[in-house]
This record gives sequence, structure tokens and C-alpha cells, in this order.
Amino acid sequence: MLVVMEAHADATKIEAVCAEIRAMGYVPHPMPGPTRTAIGITGNRGPVEQATRLQRMPGVAQLIRVTSPYKLVSREFHEGDTLVQVGPVVFGGPAVTVIAGPCTVETREQTLTIAHAVREAGATMLRGGAFKPRTSPYAFHGLGEEGLRILAEAREATGMPVVTEVMDVETLPMVCEYADMLQIGARNMQNYPLLRAVGRSGRPVLLKRGFAATVKDLLLAAEYVLHEGNADVVLCERGIRTFDDTLRFTLDLGAVPMIKQLSHLPVIVDPSHASGRWDQVLPMARAAIAAGADGLIVEVHHNPAFALCDGQQSLVPDRFVAMMEQVARIADAMERPMAS
Ligand code: PEP
Ligand code: MN
Repeated sequence: MLVVMEAHADATKIEAVCAEIRAMGYVPHPMPGPTRTAIGITGNRGPVEQATRLQRMPGVAQLIRVTSPYKLVSREFHEGDTLVQVGPVVFGGPAVTVIAGPCTVETREQTLTIAHAVREAGATMLRGGAFKPRTSPYAFHGLGEEGLRILAEAREATGMPVVTEVMDVETLPMVCEYADMLQIGARNMQNYPLLRAVGRSGRPVLLKRGFAATVKDLLLAAEYVLHEGNADVVLCERGIRTFDDTLRFTLDLGAVPMIKQLSHLPVIVDPSHASGRWDQVLPMARAAIAAGADGLIVEVHHNPAFALCDGQQSLVPDRFVAMMEQVARIADAMERPMAS
């Protein structure tokens, strides 16, 4: 349920409606807009009972029933685009933002080399895993805190904020000490205690779509984070599992404009994990921007043959430069500048 206030309703009237909603046992979410304030109601399991009580309060223009199962992430609750700010980087505005870096932090020299290369090519944010979710328990699982320290050093050296994956509630405080943005990986998209914890952390979140998750599942996962009071969520389409195994996953680009219609949150695309092949990353990156994505997250490695993880899908720096040039041309056609 959404309570739309009259344009001239002052703070006292808005607070009175919020107090009434609380008295009914629900949670009010006042959302000031350019012309009027709307107050979202969550916590109800069915239609809000006694809603007529609100209808008759001073300053209330109308009540609107919200039909989607997610509320706080929906366009119904919040009409304008949400901007997510990570240091100097903004997601969801006019500019197309590119995050790039290695799959995994392997060594200090490796991460710094790649960080400088992607910054020079125009990336504005650095990625890199210190805690890696791997399908096999025998694979390399990342350097842990040492990896986080290296990422922090790369941030100092390049000025780029850092996004890195947090895998569990236990290590969240440690990751928060170093990271500017917390990545929730595809395998953890439905780890609800973790979603709540990153929601409470107040840090910007990059939420990747699970590879067996519907768009509705993804939006409901984001709803957990927003429900804890953290609206700084960027969604990431990174491919889903379908009957076709030609590529690592199937990039669901149709999800991009659909999510942007359903939700006010920024959406970026990961063409690296979606395709699993470096030679498919450029066309998928171009297509993602043409489909309306707000940005990209791309894996880059200066020596992919020796990468400890995902070398086969990593671009060498020269190809990343080519990707940035091509993406800039698509962005230009979409009348969007590249973030710089
Ligand atoms: C990653 O970005 O390093 C990663 C593991 O991605 P995903 O969770 O999408 O598989
Ligand atoms: Mn990877």
C-alpha cells in the first residue's frame, strides 16, 4: 500500500500518518518526491486493514494498492531512478560506469598491474575477489585478508573505489574495513541472513543474480537489503543456466529493460561470467549497453594463461581498451556519456 500525500501536506501531517501506520503494526517508509511525499507501507501480510482510517487523515490525497510482491525496490514505491554513489562513482545516472579487474587477487604485483591498466583504459572502479566461492573445494579460494589489503593498496594507487565479494556474515566486518562496495555473488543471492547483514552494514551493495533465479527472486533478494534501511543496491545480470551449454551461462539481456521498468535500482551486466569466453565479452558488453544497462563489470588479466581463476574469460588489457572504445560508441548512440 502506498499513501500519496497532497502536495501541500507539511511535515506534521506526514508524521501523523506515519504514526498511525506504526500504530496499526506496520512500517511506514516516507519517500519525499519532487512535488509530493508518498509513504510506503510494509509489514502487512495481506491488504492493509483499516486503510480507510488513513484515507480520512488530513493531507492524504489517495491510497494506492501495490500489487508486486516486492515493495521498496519497485517503481510503484519510488518512481525516479535511484542513484547509488560509491566514492566518486555513481551508478544509475546518465553515465555508463565500468568496473574492471581480475577475477581473483593473486599477488600484489598482479593486482596493481591490472588496476593501473584498467584505470588507464577508462574503468572507474576496481573489482577483485579476496574470498572466492568456487564450485570445487580443491580450487583456489582467495587470499582472504591479505587480498583485501592488496585491494586497498590498489585503491590508493589508482583512486578507484573497490568492490569485492563477501561470502558470509562472519567475515563481513573484515570485508567492510577494506571494501567500498560489497558484492553478493550469484551463489549467495538467496543467502537471506547475509542479505540482511549487508543491509544493516549500510555499505553499497552489488547484488548478482543467481543463475537459477528469476527476476522476481532477484528483486525480492534486493528487497531484503532495502528493508534493513540500505537503498544503495546495484543489480547485476550475469547469466542464468538454461538448456544451452554452448556458453558458460545464458546472458538474459531481456532482463535489463524489464528490471529497469519494474525497479528504480541501477542495473549492470557481467559479460565475463555470462559467456565464460573472452572472445564473447566484447559483443555482449556492447549489447548490454544497447539494452540500457547502467554499466558493466568485466574481468581483466594481463596474463590470463596463468590466472588462478577464470583466465579463459578474462580480457587482456589491450582488448579491454578495445572494449571501452566500442562501448563508448554504443553509449554515445544511447546519448549516455562514459563515466570518467
Ligand atoms: C565474481 O564476480 O567473481 C563471481 C564469482 O561472479 P558470480 O557470483 O556472478 O559467479
Ligand atoms: Mn570470476
